[in-house]
Amino acid sequence: CVPHVDGQGNPAGFFMLCVDVTDRARLEERLNDLATRDPLTGALNRRAFLERAESELDRCSRDGAPLSFVIVDLDHFKKVNDTWGHAAGDEVLKTLAETCRSVLRPADAFGRFGGEEFVALLPDADADDAADIAERLRRLTEESEIATPEGVIRVTLSAGYTTALPGDTPDDLVRRADAALYESKRSGRNRVTRA
Ligand code: GH3
Ligand code: MG
Ligand code: MG
Repeated sequence: CVPHVDGQGNPAGFFMLCVDVTDRARLEERLNDLATRDPLTGALNRRAFLERAESELDRCSRDGAPLSFVIVDLDHFKKVNDTWGHAAGDEVLKTLAETCRSVLRPADAFGRFGGEEFVALLPDADADDAADIAERLRRLTEESEIATPEGVIRVTLSAGYTTALPGDTPDDLVRRADAALYESKRSGRNRVTRA
């Protein structure tokens, strides 16, 4: 707000400049999303997810609270692409992401690590809670009929989960849950394994 004076130097009013900050806030949010999220599913990318895991691990160990980590991978997804096409495969990935979000709580973090591999960080969740969430995801995926222009697609997923031990880093959680996921695949797929 700037005072305005007339030719004689007498106050004649004020100039006011208004900047709409909502556009700027929206732009910042958009830029932040581009840097941290997968555009197809809106899940956090690997880097953003691991940063979040690091701070949640710190917080939970300070508070003496449990923390769990779940990794899921679609079964035979290559075959889905080969049979139905890549666009239909993308629809399956979006549906899986929505299913995951519907099961997770607001405080959980949801990420996409690879093509058809998704991860969830569950602060304040112990092994039983994690088993419950992973099993719900498995069952909802198995039951869901995904409508695409190419037809109705049904898929299953395999999962592995682990609960944080004292001194764990995010990499430790990923390594253990990944080994459990591998065991789910090895023993027949469409199942959940605890690390
Ligand atoms: P497994 O049961 O052992 O997990 O077998 P899989 O076929 O699911 O695993 P594999 O790693 O062989 O294949 C993963 C496929 O995921 C291959 C790749 O084309 C596909 N993929 C990766 N990213 C995307 C994507 O963004 N969209 C689509 N439609 N497909 C993708
Ligand atoms: Mg797979
Ligand atoms: Mg995979």
